[in-house]
Amino acid sequence: MFVHLSNSSQIKPKRDGIKVKRRCEKCGAESTFVECEKTQDIKLYGLIAIWGSSTIVMHCTNCFENFKVDTLNDPQLKEAFDARQKKAEAEAAAEAARRKAEEEKKKAEEERIRKAEELKREQQREEERKRKEAVVDKELEELKKKLGK
Ligand SMILES: [Zn+2]
Repeated sequence: MFVHLSNSSQIKPKRDGIKVKRRCEKCGAESTFVECEKTQDIKLYGLIAIWGSSTIVMHCTNCFENFKVDTLNDPQLKEAFDARQKKAEAEAAAEAARRKAEEEKKKAEEERIRKAEELKREQQREEERKRKEAVVDKELEELKKKLGK
C-alpha cells in the first residue's frame, strides 16, 4: 500500500515579535533578526495533519537563515524575551487588579443600594407609626371633648 506523506514547514513573522540587530553567525552580516514562528506539518495525502509542531525561531533578514532562540545564546535577545515576559506578566497582573477593583466597586454599589432601600423602608415604617399615633391622638382628643361635655 502506498501512503503519501507530505512534510511542509512555514516561517511566519510573529505579530509584535521581537527584533534585534546582531551579527549573523551564518552570513557574517550585521543584520536584523526577527522573531518568527516556524510551523511544521506532516500531512497524509496532503490533507490530514498527523503531526505538527511550532517553534519560535529568530530569522536573519539578510540570509534568511532561521536560528532556534536558545542556540543563539545572546544576552541581548534573552533580555528582550525576558522583558516581554515581564511586560506580559505585569499586564496580566494589572488586568487582574482592574477586574478586582471593578468587582469591589460593584459590590460597594450594591451595598449602597441595599442600605438606601433599608433606610427608605425604615422611614416608611416610621411615617406609618407617626400616622397611626396621630390617629390615636385625634381619637383621644375627641373622646376628651365628648367626656368634657
Ligand atoms: Zn544571516
